[in-house]
Amino acid sequence: MKLTDQISDLPGIGPKLTEGLMSLGLKTINDLLFFLPRKYDDYSLIIPIKLLKPGQVTVKAKLSNIKTRRSSRGLTITEALASDETNSLKLVWFNQPYRQKSIKSCQEYFISGVYKLSNRQFSIINPAIELASDIPINSARIIPIYKENKIINSRLIRATMAQVLPLTTEIKEYIPTKIVTNLKFLPLSKAVHQLHYPQTNQQLAEAKKRFQFNELFPILLANELTNRERLKQKSTVVPFDVDLARFFVSKLPFTLTDDQRRVIWQIYQDMQASLPMNRLVEGDVGSGKTVVAVMAAVMALSAGFKVAFMAPTELLAKQHATTVAKLLKPLGMDSWFTLLTGSMGVKQKKDIIAAVNKQSKSFVVGTHSLLTCGIDWSNLVLIIIDEQHRFGVDQRMSLQKQAGYLPHFLSTTATPIPRSLALTIFNDLDLSRLKSMPSNRKAIKSDLISPAKYRHFREILNHELTNGRQAYIVCPNIHQKDDQDRVSLEYIYEHYSKQLPLFKVAMIHGQLSSDEQTQIMEDFINNKIKVLIATTVIEVGVDVANASVMVIYGPERFGLAQLHQLRGRVGRGVHNSFCFLMLNDSLEPINRLRQFVNISDGFELSELDLALRGPGAVYGKLQHGKGGINLLTLDDHDLIQQTKQAVAMFFDNKEKVVKYKQLAKRVEAAQQLTNLN
Ligand code: ADP
Ligand code: MG
Repeated sequence: MKLTDQISDLPGIGPKLTEGLMSLGLKTINDLLFFLPRKYDDYSLIIPIKLLKPGQVTVKAKLSNIKTRRSSRGLTITEALASDETNSLKLVWFNQPYRQKSIKSCQEYFISGVYKLSNRQFSIINPAIELASDIPINSARIIPIYKENKIINSRLIRATMAQVLPLTTEIKEYIPTKIVTNLKFLPLSKAVHQLHYPQTNQQLAEAKKRFQFNELFPILLANELTNRERLKQKSTVVPFDVDLARFFVSKLPFTLTDDQRRVIWQIYQDMQASLPMNRLVEGDVGSGKTVVAVMAAVMALSAGFKVAFMAPTELLAKQHATTVAKLLKPLGMDSWFTLLTGSMGVKQKKDIIAAVNKQSKSFVVGTHSLLTCGIDWSNLVLIIIDEQHRFGVDQRMSLQKQAGYLPHFLSTTATPIPRSLALTIFNDLDLSRLKSMPSNRKAIKSDLISPAKYRHFREILNHELTNGRQAYIVCPNIHQKDDQDRVSLEYIYEHYSKQLPLFKVAMIHGQLSSDEQTQIMEDFINNKIKVLIATTVIEVGVDVANASVMVIYGPERFGLAQLHQLRGRVGRGVHNSFCFLMLNDSLEPINRLRQFVNISDGFELSELDLALRGPGAVYGKLQHGKGGINLLTLDDHDLIQQTKQAVAMFFDNKEKVVKYKQLAKRVEAAQQLTNLN
């Protein structure tokens, strides 16, 4: 047998089991071995029956009095008495009539399960039992629990796993062995074995640590490679013109916050260096990131260069264009500015591109297609990317080829990167945080709406609409899955169309054409539409100051960062605003949602999100092992230190990533990563 063999070729594995494993995405033995447990139940401690306390327990006992009967409701019930030297205990199995024959009385068994009171008697229902003379798989050990589905359960997975476990010895390292042994990590083969079959908690902890190292090493290595690459790059110096900066500020209709001043200063410093800037400006929705970005652009423009400003959607690009034009006008720089979008006519696009190519300085706003639309970017010194964490390495390199040097990168986001992720995963980025909000901002009142509070919610909604305000209603999916699905856009649209006959209700979602979406958004911006039922297409950036109510259906299906982004769509004007999370009858408000309504700070929420969901969920793409626990935690400073040491050794030993195929793949994945989810 080899690791690459198909599971279906294993002796004794029938079509049913094969189907079950396939349904989990497992085809080869290697897949199976890297299918890590979701969690563990510790049944390793064997307890005398007399000393049992309610909870998960294991006893070693002989079985007797085995009886099977049928209940009035048609269940088969098999009962047995388990006895050790100290006492006896009742065991009950439902619908497992084979137990009657398979149990050998007078033999000793390991019996594991939950010991609890039922029908006024302490017993274990549906325990796992195994002969004490065999090597235990489902009892008397730390039992791994795998991801299960309708076809396959952990018990079957464990049985198959036990069969292939000897093959772990074939597992090869993909991190240089010298580094692994030097830092005293378990060999990978041993770690896999111990994750499926830990004999002690100590073994389990060591194996987990090895896997955490496996996850972290490619990330830190990728960062170091990127950093080393960056230090070799040259960019173009954008000199700082203090008079221009002062003039710009003097023309603003507001005063900059201290945070805005500090951040723009950092950016100017970066652009004066010949090393390319790679900076991310983080700040809650409405914290004023755009003006900071425009100040950077103005400096580059005035020094004689081109600037590209890219937004994630066409709608946002248009909104930015309006803002930018307004800001540039008093400086007399608006003639160098243009918007370029995909939906423009062919002739119009051609003309714009030709005009931009003729000029040496130019400031173009558009979507991500800007860089590939035919503009001659040879004079490009600054790229601004709205609502993105960082630019993929490939994208950066392609630009460098066009310009001959690496432009300065400035990205902005309303989804902050939690500290621990920033220090490890995103450490090739310089971060600037806009913490304080412009002082004219109104707080947003957030509330959980259970069916009992629905009337209260409707009163506020009616009141706001009657007073001329607008509302967003967000749904997690477009189509109704079944009659029970009360959170689909279809369903909610129908509901509110009926309930609010006096107000224009419309819907917007990704299945509409881009033209239709733009039209609807424009109608909403122009206050023709009063209530907009939407999917998360409205998540980023959209700015409608008159909207004062955000209603979110199915809030439990969204991450905290996403909920916060949605909430940020309101409270952008002078009006008091509201965010309502709609709970359905059966839903106990989850802790996460309760906390959300009490926390208005996006930085705090991002830390909470990470703590609650773990880096795997927040930063999903690097997760490996299908459905297994994501073992990486980033609060283990020792591990981070050790991994940094490992990366240093890698370079000291003059190792090359290409030599290690799997490692290379992961390094590449880490380098591609641009967004949190
Ligand atoms: P975001 O950080 O969400 O991108 P914007 O840059 O769109 O926020 O700014 C939101 C609004 O706040 C804009 O209308 C902008 O003109 C305004 N604004 C920005 N900075 C300030 C400030 N210091 N004082 C008052 N208003 C500001
Ligand atoms: Mg913005």
